[in-house]
Amino acid sequence: MARRRLTAGQVPVDLIVPEILSDAGERIRHVYFPIDGFISLITPAKGRRQLEIGLVGSEGMLGVPLLLGVSISPFRAMVQGGGRAWRVDAATLQQEIMSNAGVRATLNRYLYVFLAQLMQTSTCTRFHRIDARLARWLLMTRDRAHTDHFHLTHEFLALMLGVRRVGVTRAATALQRRELIRYRRGDISVLDVRGLERAACACYAVDKGIYARIIGSKGAQQGAAASATAFVTARVENSMECYGENGAMSRSQ
Ligand SMILES: [Zn+2]
Repeated sequence: MARRRLTAGQVPVDLIVPEILSDAGERIRHVYFPIDGFISLITPAKGRRQLEIGLVGSEGMLGVPLLLGVSISPFRAMVQGGGRAWRVDAATLQQEIMSNAGVRATLNRYLYVFLAQLMQTSTCTRFHRIDARLARWLLMTRDRAHTDHFHLTHEFLALMLGVRRVGVTRAATALQRRELIRYRRGDISVLDVRGLERAACACYAVDKGIYARIIGSKGAQQGAAASATAFVTARVENSMECYGENGAMSRSQ
């Protein structure tokens, strides 16, 4: 019965660019655990300006305020890379956190990593050169997209770096000249990962180091298995054992 209650409503959903999954100031209704897409976290600034402050892929979850008992989103969450995600009802997650110490501990570790990433990004935005920051964000995107080829518009790169479009052009051209990336109308190919890592500011390595230390090297920015996603996947798999495609029970519990 408990299992049925937990798994009810958990379905993999499509993440479609540029869908907004939650907006700043809005109530969080669902938590998302990306399987192969990724989500940008964006803070609004005065006027029409915005800044990307974080990225969530298969290494993490969207909806961390719920872990602190707060159900209002402080930022906009927009799908930046299409794919799929497990979606869990906010109330279901909160019940799970209350009743399962193991899940709570896992998600709290992710919360720590998430906060560390936000702090690193603040430092990065203030002190590091644009081309080094672009290299960092491209590597972070590559890790979450699980491919060397992805699409990011010029406008979004500007939002990612908090600079004008001309600043993006200069930084992308600099990386392209060094044959680290190819950039054509938003289609980005990472040509030299090691070279791009050397071109990136230290923040990329710091982020990865914290992730590996707190969540485990196996999951360092790449694998879902070591992250909080595992608990949702396990529950959905349980649910699939119990229910047929139409929701009819196919096996006794
Ligand atoms: Zn940096």
